Formats: sequence, C-alpha cells, structure tokens
Amino acid sequence: MIATSTLPAEAVVDLSAVRENVRELCRRAPSAQVMAVVKADGYGHGLLPCAAAARAGGATWLGGAQLAEGLSLRAAGDQGRLLSWLHVPGDDFAGAVRVGIDLSASAPWAVDQIADAARSAGGTARVHLKIDTGLSRGGATPTDWDELVGAALAAQAEGAVSVVGVWSHLAWADAPDHPTVRHQREVFDLAVARAEALGVRPEVRHLANSAATLTNPAAHYDLVRPGLAVYGLSPVPDLHDAAALGLRPAMSLRATLALVKRVPAGSGVAYGHTYVTERETVLALVPLGYADGVPRAAGNVGPLLVAGAVHRIAGRVSMDQVVVDLGDDAAARDCRAGDPVVLFGDGAAGEPTAQDWAQATGTIAYEIVARIGARVPRTHVGGDV
Ligand SMILES: *Cc1c(COP(=O)(O)O)cnc(C)c1O
Repeated sequence: MIATSTLPAEAVVDLSAVRENVRELCRRAPSAQVMAVVKADGYGHGLLPCAAAARAGGATWLGGAQLAEGLSLRAAGDQGRLLSWLHVPGDDFAGAVRVGIDLSASAPWAVDQIADAARSAGGTARVHLKIDTGLSRGGATPTDWDELVGAALAAQAEGAVSVVGVWSHLAWADAPDHPTVRHQREVFDLAVARAEALGVRPEVRHLANSAATLTNPAAHYDLVRPGLAVYGLSPVPDLHDAAALGLRPAMSLRATLALVKRVPAGSGVAYGHTYVTERETVLALVPLGYADGVPRAAGNVGPLLVAGAVHRIAGRVSMDQVVVDLGDDAAARDCRAGDPVVLFGDGAAGEPTAQDWAQATGTIAYEIVARIGARVPRTHVGGDV
C-alpha cells in the first residue's frame, strides 16, 4: 500500500485497528468502563489520532502519566473523562483543574497542591487516591493510607476537591495466577473499604491494565485501564498472541531501501564487522537506526520483510541505518533502491510483528513501539468512522 512512498521511513498507524481493539476491550470488560491509556504519545502511535480513535471505539475515559498529555488532549478538544497520574510538586494543577482533568494523588503534598490549585482556579478538583498494594512504585502504602485519605477528606469538606476514585496498579498482571495478583486485590479491597469507612464515596475503583483486563475479570472493578492492548499488541505474549486475544497491531514500521549493491564474499558489514558475508551477495541499506528506535540489540538478529522474504539485520545497528544481506537469489538480484521494506506490522503479509522484534532483542513490545523516534513520521490511516 505504501510501496510508492518516497519517505525514507514512516510508521503507518491504522486507526481502525485502535478503534476495533478498544471495542474488543469493552466486550472483554462488560461491567466496567474502559480508560484507553494514551501516555508516551499513545505508546508511540500518535496521541491525538489514537485518542480520537479510542473514543470512537467506546473508551469513556482516557489516561496519561504526565499532565502535559491531558492538557494536549483538552487543547485538541477532547471533552471526555481524563485521568493524569504522575505528578511532581509544582506541576500545573490549576491548569488541570480549569480544564477538568482528573488527578491522582499518592501523598498528602499532592492533595495540598491540588486543593490550592482548585482554590486559585475557582473550581473543585476531581481526585483519585492511589494505594500502593504491592508494586512499590506510585501510591500510598497501607501504613500511610489513612493520612492520605484524611488529607483528601479535609480538602473535600471545604469544597476544594472531590474524591472520585480509588485505584492501584498490579506488579504481575501478565502472570494472572501469580500469588501477588490475588494479594494485591485483597489489599486493594481493604483500602477501598477503609476509605469508605472514613467517608469516601468513590465513583470508580480501578486496578486492571491490559493484561488484567484480558485475563482477570476479578480485577475489573468499575474501570479498566488498558494501554498496550489498545494498540493491538499482546500484554501476555507467553500466554496468547494478539490474534488469539481478538487484537490487531495498529502500527507498521516501514522504510524505503536507500541503496542495493553486490559485494564479494568476505565483506565485513557495518561498525566492527560483526557480520562478514560468506559468499558474493546483495546488501540492502535501510534508512532506520537506533536514533529512530531500532534497538542496538537488534544487530544481527532484527527481522525485516524485504524482497519477499524475512531477512535479518547484518551487523551492528548504526544511528541512522542498518544493512540487510539479501542473499543471491532471483528476488535479491531484482531488488533496487526505492523498494519497500517492512520492519514490523500486523503480520498479515508475512512481515514480523513488534512482538517478534521484542523477542529478537530481549525486550517487550511496549518498548519497541514506544521508542520509535521523533524523526519517523507517523502516517495515520483508517480514521474515518
Ligand atoms: C501504563 C499504565 C497502564 C497501562 O498498562 P498496559 O500494560 O499498557 O495496559 C495502566 N495503568 C497505569 C498506572 C499505567 O502506568
């Protein structure tokens, strides 16, 4: 479809896949609302187009880590529920309150700053209190929970905040039978009960990321927060691939060959000559490198679809480019500069997937898509509802 592109490289994002993936997540969590997580530029897929596609697929909430993400969504006209959860002292809480972004608080300082901001903005801040049920990342520990709830209720009593949510995050959601999953649910239930006993009346309790949304209905509560699955990648690749979960990868990373040439046997390829041609062969130059998000760990292992077959990167990954050894068959000999190469996509045309890249390079699909560089243009297709 993009074979005639003259861009060196592009990430084509199919918004109809995002929309359908969210529909599937809504079906998988019928008793909960769905918050599509669009942090980190929509996991590298493009914040605003993916947010719109997720809304069209039924996401009544959107979620992001940094406040700037929520502010961008509001500036672009999104009017639905938004939650922002990772703050530092001095963040623009007043700006968030003015445009109605829900805010998470894990500590009394956050409640205090959010309440101050609400007073100065002349509104009421909607706050979700986060309990650390065992990830030891964000959230108040059970020991500190009463203090956080107390601070929030005091601010609520004077009208500065409204406590609308209680939430947490799982450490082992991708291993649904891991004992910590049940334990974190139990700690969560106790924290919710304690908050309610102290006077909190949450609209939404939420715990589940993609993996828990797809594999653990007991963790759905009132709202689920899938991220990776929105973009069509499996959060549990050791258990189920994307297709088995009813998901379709939205991003396809493509490039145009910059050079194709014959080289003799014994040619060392790329920095350090970690690859040496065994016979006379055809090398193709792909204009994508580690500055574009191709992991340096993909040297000699990263798979690409070019000249009708999957080949591996030859040698090290450079900042801007990689080399592929196409061999010496008829397809390789017909290959020319300007021909297309696909690093990953949904796999339907035989190309590798982002999960294949994750496996080849010892990481997770999240990192493969989220680290695609700013230099790679995102082309959005399938956005018309
Ligand atoms: C990133 C994130 C999610 C989404 O996680 P996935 O594994 O991508 O579904 C949900 N909740 C929080 C707090 C997150 O940081």
